[in-house]
Amino acid sequence: MKALVLHAPRDLRIEEREVSRPGPGEVLIKMAAGGICGSDLHYFNHGGWGTVRIKEPMILGHEVAGHVLSLGDGVDGLREGQLVAVSPSRPCQACRYCREGRHNACLNMRFYGSAMPFPHVQGAFREHLLADAAQCAPADGLSPGEAAMAEPLAVCLHAARQAGPLLGKRVLVTGCGPIGILSVMAARRAGAAEIVATDLTDFTLTTAAANGADRVIDMAKDPAGLKTYEDEKGYFDVLIECTGVAAALAGAIPALRPGAVIVQVGLGGDMTLPMQALTVKELELRGSFRFHGEEFPVKAE
Ligand code: ZN
Repeated sequence: MKALVLHAPRDLRIEEREVSRPGPGEVLIKMAAGGICGSDLHYFNHGGWGTVRIKEPMILGHEVAGHVLSLGDGVDGLREGQLVAVSPSRPCQACRYCREGRHNACLNMRFYGSAMPFPHVQGAFREHLLADAAQCAPADGLSPGEAAMAEPLAVCLHAARQAGPLLGKRVLVTGCGPIGILSVMAARRAGAAEIVATDLTDFTLTTAAANGADRVIDMAKDPAGLKTYEDEKGYFDVLIECTGVAAALAGAIPALRPGAVIVQVGLGGDMTLPMQALTVKELELRGSFRFHGEEFPVKAE
């Protein structure tokens, strides 16, 4: 079979790999569709992200779907030819977190296309993939492309759930990449009364509007676009922050009501959070401080 193998930043090759036979409890899948995650792009462009770097050739990809080709012994609930969405997480089922039922926090996670462990976990951009049956969710009635969205959608459903019940809530989503747009959809489905989404490009904002956002704001053209929501101590009950950019988070906070919930989904490295906890000296130097859209003067005694 062919696989898409990253050797170094911007050195991506199509190479031959052996096809394995499914062992007990395993499934062999003929891949049909794959989404390109931001982390795949980081590996491709920079060879990794944060402190993680590829140290050996690695097959990319983890947002995938395909058709069951053959079943190992003891697998039931799946059938040959069936379309399945594949969870990229392969928890160990034995560590303390797995035993608590928190498989997402597994200490020995083998996540497709991850250079965090060494040897790296090879990814899913390949013609055939071996998976545990438990990783496969039947996707009857979906297209392979839709099924491949299951993993990022799961991220967004989880994120929306962190905010508590969204019924009747006003939700702000910052960032309208796939995660932001799926978060808009998750909030809409959870009954949000009003959803406003921000980004920097027409394409992403148009897509957000077509998928459930009531209003979209282009922060590139209108940097003060959230200003109107700052009156009376803010407007939104929930912020789902999907950019990972400190300025997006800081800029959204004044538009949040007291007691609002911030769900930080985007990961972009270090982020600072304005807590208004300045020293008296700093306040004097500034001459004023800003609180929920209002400037208050500070005078040196
Ligand atoms: Zn584990």
